[in-house]
Formats: sequence, structure tokens, C-alpha cells
Amino acid sequence: MTTTPATTAPPTWAAVAQAFPALRQTVNGHRLVYLDSAATSLKPQAVIDAVVEYYADYPSNVHRSVHTLAGRATEAYEAARARVAAFVGADAQSLVFTRGTTEGLNLVASGWARRHLRPGDEILLTPAEHHSNLVPWQQVAKATGARLVFAPLTADGRLTAEAIRASFTSRTRLAAVAHVSNVLGTENPIRELVALAHRQDAVVVVDGAQSAPHLPVSVAALGVDFFAFSAHKMCGPTGIGALYGRPERLREADPLLFGGEMIAEVDQEHATWADVPYRFEGGTPHVAGAIGWGAAVAFLERLGMDHIAAHSRALAMDAAARLAALPRVSVYGPAGGRQAVVAFNYDGVHPHDVAQVLDSQGIAVRAGHHCAQPLMAALSIQSSVRASFYLYNTREDVDRLVDGLREVGRYFGR
Ligand code: PLP
Repeated sequence: MTTTPATTAPPTWAAVAQAFPALRQTVNGHRLVYLDSAATSLKPQAVIDAVVEYYADYPSNVHRSVHTLAGRATEAYEAARARVAAFVGADAQSLVFTRGTTEGLNLVASGWARRHLRPGDEILLTPAEHHSNLVPWQQVAKATGARLVFAPLTADGRLTAEAIRASFTSRTRLAAVAHVSNVLGTENPIRELVALAHRQDAVVVVDGAQSAPHLPVSVAALGVDFFAFSAHKMCGPTGIGALYGRPERLREADPLLFGGEMIAEVDQEHATWADVPYRFEGGTPHVAGAIGWGAAVAFLERLGMDHIAAHSRALAMDAAARLAALPRVSVYGPAGGRQAVVAFNYDGVHPHDVAQVLDSQGIAVRAGHHCAQPLMAALSIQSSVRASFYLYNTREDVDRLVDGLREVGRYFGR
């Protein structure tokens, strides 16, 4: 479901790229081709300007002082919350600012799940989860006696509604699944998961780190209980993200941080909490980050999320097909239905060496386990190269990647 109206015609992507100052540089003598947006995206000038303006003109704390600059900062911070919330189809009061996806998932794990799960309860995951959506649940399982259950993937790495149904039991109390895989680029059937979970009041937690930057998202339409995402992967600043939670679920959770600004009343012995979302935002928040993120959302909305989704999907599909056609290159994940990322290996060459040779040609990719070691084990590999695409990439960048891999072959004599 689209929450952000797309412009009628797709933008000219090469012109969009001009908004990103990092792309004006050459790296190792070549025009930079940035294919590591799944790790973190580049930032447009409008976001940099919004952050600079805050620090230069009204660098005040929020929700505290009554002076003019503080009022302006509070207004801008809360306007950013409303904007980011609307971007994912939520109300401002259901959006908690966090440090990022990792903190949001930890908030649910420590604040909600530790309080509500009991021995024998089941937590449903997939083998493709990012460590940020696995390790917190391992800790919850250890603390509560709940059990982790993994819904199997198909041979080409997809999570099907049938696999979810087969893995769900009457003991399933919580399911935590990525919306889009950061390695395989697959989009998971969240609506089917929610329909099944809510029949027995199980809670659905979605890791939206790789979907919020690329897809039109509506948490209301998806029906999820929690949805965590990060600003830095969607043109915003680092150090800030958000957790959407259905208000009744948020009210059932304990805060992670206790201290200033998260309280209602304090006496020497006791304290009571502010309402949601503020009870989860103890201490001085990342004001500049929130304001910069608001500017990033405005930037994405101007381009239209439908266009962005179609563009990054088309580039990834094109790259996957062309890489798979190269001798000695294996591409992971399904042939169709891929969002923005392509993980692959070059037979006989370590992924770090592939990345190094690509870097020598000005092409930035990631090499490693992508914080998904159980998935690497399931694929019977240690690591892979990952090229990830976003709104500033073009077909020319795919050409450069394909040429770069031919150079890898020449360099290693393969
Ligand atoms: N989940 C997924 C699928 C990711 O790709 C990432 C980051 O790479 C994360 C979670 C963690 O995000 P962050 O480091 O912003 O907390």
C-alpha cells in the first residue's frame, strides 16, 4: 500500500544523483560507483543542510526550556517524528525514536518479550535474519525459557506462507521476521504472517531496516505490532532510527533507559513513566538526527516511493541476471522478485579480494557475512560479496560492476 503519493513520471535518476555530494568524488582515479547502500546510504545535500542549520541556528535541547531556540528545536524534532511516522503509515504517538533498528528490536525483546514470554512459548524466526533480529531473541529465550523456532526457506532462499503456517504452533507467542532480507533481497509475506499470528494473539515484530528505504510501507496496512527501521539506510543521518509499536503493545513494554524526560512523577523512592512514546526516550535525544531524517523523508517523498522501489528493484534484477551469466560467478537468492541487493561469489577468489579489486576501480561493495552467519551456513558459504542499489545508482553503475568483475577474473587469472 502506498502511503506517499508518487510523482506522476519517474524522476531522471542521473539528475537525482547530483543531489549527493559524495558522488562528486573520484576513488582510486575512477568515478565513484557506490553499491553499499544496504550498509548505509549516501546523504543528499538537503539532509546535510538541515543538520547544519540545526547546529548553526537553533542547537537547543527539546522538551525542556521555554526560550525561543528551544521552542524551535522542539517543534522541528516533533515535526520530524510526525513526518517519519506518516511515512510508514503510523501516528506520531506510536513512533519511538531509537538509535536504529538494532535498538528498536532490543527494546521489544527486553522491554516487551522478557516481560510476557514464559517457558515453552515459541519465538518464530527465519534462518535469514540479520544478527540484530536474532541475538536479542536468543537472549530472550535464555532469560524466559522460550524456544526459538526457525521457519525453513525454499532452496532458492524464499520464505513462503506455507512454511510460516507449517512452523506456527499453538505455543507461538511472537514472530520476528525481516520485511526484506539484507542478503537475498527477498520480500517476506508479512500480511500472511500477521493474519496467522493475530488469530492467537501472537505478536509480530518486523525488521524494516531494508524495506523502509525502498518500499512504500504502511504499518497499519501490514497490521504488524512492531516495526523497527534506521534513518541512515534511507538517506538520513546515522545514530537515529525508530520503533513503531501499536500503542497498546508499547504500553505493555518496559523502558530500556531510565532517567530524564521519560518520567511523569519522581519522588525519592519511586517514579512513574511518561506516556508513550516519551517513556522510551530517556535522556537527550539525537535532535539533529531526527531533523535530518525528516528532511530525508521529504526528499524520498518528493521522488515517490513507488518509483524508488521500481528503480532499485530493476537495477538489482538486471545486475543479478548479468552477474549470473558471467563465468565463475554464483548469485544467491531467487531469480525473480528481488529488492535492491545482489549477493554473489566469484569462484576461487575470496570475497574480500573481489571487493578490493572492485575498490581499485572506484566501485564500493560489501564483502563479509553481512551480519547473517546462520544464513551463510545455510548457503554453505563463509561470506559473500554484496552489491546493493539505491536511488542514485544507474544502469551505468551496473555496467561498471560487470566490467569490474571481468577485471577480477583477469587479475586473478581466472
Ligand atoms: N536488520 C537488517 C536487515 C539490516 O540490514 C541491518 C543493517 O544492516 C540491521 C537490522 C541493523 O541496522 P542498524 O545497524 O541500523 O541498527
